[in-house]
Amino acid sequence: MARYPHADWDPLPEANTQPRIRPWGAVLHTAVSNAKNIKSVWLRSSIESHFYVAEDGNVLQYVDTERVAHCQLDGNYFGGGRGHISIETWDGAGRVWDGKDVRKVPRWNDHQIAAMANLLVWLRDTHGVPLVKLPEIFGRGIGWHAQYTSSKPPRFNQHHACPAPARIAQVGDVISAAVAGGQQPEPPRPPGSAVSLAAVTRAAKLDPKRPQGAVTPGAADDVRLVERALAAEGLLSSQYASDGSFGTRTVAAYARWQRRCGYSGADADGVPGSESLKKLGAKHGFRVVA
Ligand SMILES: [Zn+2]
Repeated sequence: MARYPHADWDPLPEANTQPRIRPWGAVLHTAVSNAKNIKSVWLRSSIESHFYVAEDGNVLQYVDTERVAHCQLDGNYFGGGRGHISIETWDGAGRVWDGKDVRKVPRWNDHQIAAMANLLVWLRDTHGVPLVKLPEIFGRGIGWHAQYTSSKPPRFNQHHACPAPARIAQVGDVISAAVAGGQQPEPPRPPGSAVSLAAVTRAAKLDPKRPQGAVTPGAADDVRLVERALAAEGLLSSQYASDGSFGTRTVAAYARWQRRCGYSGADADGVPGSESLKKLGAKHGFRVVA
């Protein structure tokens, strides 16, 4: 059984009963929908996707990733019990565009790109799906629905332009964001902002258990300010200094800062305390709040 831990698990009746697959690649779609959740569409239909990425980047999972979902013809289930994962995405049909002229489908927004990148990182870590463009229809990598449009099998569909030209042009960006360890949608705060001790403490306890680069919801901006300060102190490689994830490297860097402040043992465990964080903020331009 495999569920993405950062998705809302909203299973269809067939979520755990369809034939098993070994997840081989992933295929990106556009849903022609303005909905926050497309489960009702799948409940009325004989097809379904594994995932839906909403406008705000929220991810829903409808089918276990080790079971077949049906929305890409020969790409659902193929030789040796392999199958591709399907990822549907909000596109604002009826509000942002008319739902008919695919040339008007908007680009994926930053929330969606970040959410897809984090999901692809998880697919790589959990199922071994490599972060490259799908090299052939039954290959391993990240494809899109119109990549194999054909009048005869094997094909992902017969005539769709899904996920539409603007989004097909972004597939490389989505993969790059995943390779970079996921990407954060929130813009960085200006210097002088507040850092929540509770938020960074929570992130320092949770993020080391998450996939590389994944963040604690609501804490990424605060963590980023701390990471930049640690990098400015020479304690954290700049490579990790703005990902907003308080992962093992950031914990190790913070432990070095605590030792520099004179703490040792359990007081230098890399989880921020009030005094060490205030000292760091005083030097690097942030206030500490509860
Ligand atoms: Zn599609």
